[in-house]
Amino acid sequence: MIGKDQLPEKFRDIINRQVDKFKVRVFTDEVDEIPSVDDIPGESSAKWLKIKDVVCVYVDMKNSTKLSASHHAGTTARSYTLFTGTAIRLFKEFGASYIDIRGDGVFALFNSNKVHAAFASAVTFKTFIQSEFTTRVTNKTSVDTGVHIGIHQATLIVSKIGLRKSASRGDMHNEVWAGKAVNMASKLASLSDNDEIYVSDKYYSNLSSHKALYSCDCNEPVLLWNEVDLTHDDKFSFNTARVLESVWCKQHGAEYLNDILAAD
Ligand SMILES: [Zn+2]
Repeated sequence: MIGKDQLPEKFRDIINRQVDKFKVRVFTDEVDEIPSVDDIPGESSAKWLKIKDVVCVYVDMKNSTKLSASHHAGTTARSYTLFTGTAIRLFKEFGASYIDIRGDGVFALFNSNKVHAAFASAVTFKTFIQSEFTTRVTNKTSVDTGVHIGIHQATLIVSKIGLRKSASRGDMHNEVWAGKAVNMASKLASLSDNDEIYVSDKYYSNLSSHKALYSCDCNEPVLLWNEVDLTHDDKFSFNTARVLESVWCKQHGAEYLNDILAAD
């Protein structure tokens, strides 16, 4: 317990009220699909929603700290808009059910019947990074930028936490997604250094389209994914990941993208 001489009363009251909530048992209601934001219960409810096998695609900007630390505020601002604004619009177009911004990154959640759409969104974003973003930003700043991309699939629970908008304040209330899908996707993303896409084996095992697994007919088709051993990395709750280095083929990309989407 925090005593009256340790903290002024108004702060102790806040902490005590939240501790009281912690003592109340919380229930999780399982739902089939990622709920709309309006259907996510708030903090006053003792209920969270649980969704199985959610696919999380996590992208964040390589060397964003270096970019901000260099003295081009205007260029930093435009780079963030180009990266984040494009990510949100592409993920939306690929059918993500929920998209949010985390610092210099964006994550998108897809229902379990959209594993190939999630894959296609990641390769499309990577293609954008390599053909537009990196050259434009590096030309202006000489910062070695790019993207870190990770994908995982797991159960998530969600609630809204914080303070709703009122007469005296703006909205300080947001959806909180707890569970491994977002955390592990973000950790997988942190493994990438040259725009590779790192995915967990659990997600990879659900990719069935031949075109998501093998390169196109430009050359002899080869498996696009390499195995990565994570046994000795205790940040991860699994032992194997897969990594993809390619982007959409300049000749066959559009055709492949549409065929891969049709596999969901
Ligand atoms: Zn090709």
